[in-house]
Amino acid sequence: MGYIEPAPIKDKANPFESMMSRFNIATEALGLDEEVYNVLKSPSKQVSVSLPVTMDDGSIKVFEGHRVIHSNILGPSKGGVRYAMDVNIDEVKALAAWMTWKCAVVDIPYGGAKGGIRCNPREMSAGEIERLTRAYTQSMAGVFGPDRDIPAPDMGTGPREMAWLMDEYSRSMGTTVNAVVTGKPLVLGGSLGRVEATGRGVMVSALAAMEKLKINPYHATIAVQGFGNVGSYAALLMAERGCTIVSVSDISGAYYNENGIDIKKAIGYRNNNNGTLEGFDGAELMKDPNDLLTLDVDVLVPAAIEDVIHLGNVNDVKAKLIVEGANGPTSAEADAIINEKGIMVAPDILANAGGVTVSYFEWVQNRLGYKWTRERVNRRSDRIMKDAFDKVYQASLKYKVPMRIAAYIVAIDKVAETYKFRGGF
Ligand code: GLU
Repeated sequence: MGYIEPAPIKDKANPFESMMSRFNIATEALGLDEEVYNVLKSPSKQVSVSLPVTMDDGSIKVFEGHRVIHSNILGPSKGGVRYAMDVNIDEVKALAAWMTWKCAVVDIPYGGAKGGIRCNPREMSAGEIERLTRAYTQSMAGVFGPDRDIPAPDMGTGPREMAWLMDEYSRSMGTTVNAVVTGKPLVLGGSLGRVEATGRGVMVSALAAMEKLKINPYHATIAVQGFGNVGSYAALLMAERGCTIVSVSDISGAYYNENGIDIKKAIGYRNNNNGTLEGFDGAELMKDPNDLLTLDVDVLVPAAIEDVIHLGNVNDVKAKLIVEGANGPTSAEADAIINEKGIMVAPDILANAGGVTVSYFEWVQNRLGYKWTRERVNRRSDRIMKDAFDKVYQASLKYKVPMRIAAYIVAIDKVAETYKFRGGF
């Protein structure tokens, strides 16, 4: 079966619809029966909570929190918890479904979930964030569990929040349960290699795709949108493999240097500068940060937020390859134009799956009560990422579809097959 154009999405891109439009194309191509389609299209559980938290000034603020479990067909559900101002249930639902497909693409035994709290962590003190994280964990104590649902970091959260989550959950259980959450600090049972894992997987996917496109990494120019955990490590690791990173960006703006940005220096600068590149002198500040997306580069790595490549700018994208470090950075409507232009996409559910892969390793180590070396973690995650890329590439040839749809096909096929064996009521 050939590639079917996605139905146009009216109004502003809704992340859940955006996920569903790709899901629909892939299920058509696969010839999935309606019964299984209906099972996979809706999340299996949604929990929304109100979290009253005492702020430093003594006032009480109520925050909105969610956890959506999309599927546990392949195993306990897995996925990060996001702290951001635009968190809403539709977004969390989409992100949860993406986690199901992501875990299936890299063949790890997890279902998909996602959590989120609507808040602005940049404007909160560490104490306020700690109380919020503990309140959320208490509210979700019946949802989380090392055999049930295992949270992890996402936008706005990191090892610090995971430590509070682990501690609060452990208190309620009366014993230390480190396998309830991944992305923890090393001393609490975190895994070596977890912090850089998503960026590393982006690098492995980028190199695998560049090989197919016959782009020599030593001659490749790359622009990376987002200089957080994913973007900065992706940029660093690609630079270490000979690529020239001509542009990077964060909330302070986009920076350009045609001779290549010294990424090590940029990371050092950011770490000593309140987490932003503001004032970085190793590159020029671009007038409009959005111009990063349309630079004349070989590879574009959107590693920030959703829907940054859309109908309004996709025609101007000049990269030959897009490697999606973020979840959902390309709107569904833009897919068709990307395909027409012949741009290869290493899609989010493949390219950024290195994070959840090493989360899986962390969970395995916690359950074994054992620690792997960094070499073992990297070697195994690189192999998983490369195998997943090859599998998706083969599916794209077999079904004559773009890489994104091929990734969905690989994932949906796996989950559907497992479901058929397990059966429903
Ligand atoms: N939040 C990350 C993601 O979107 C990691 C999830 C995890 O490690 O469970 O893939």
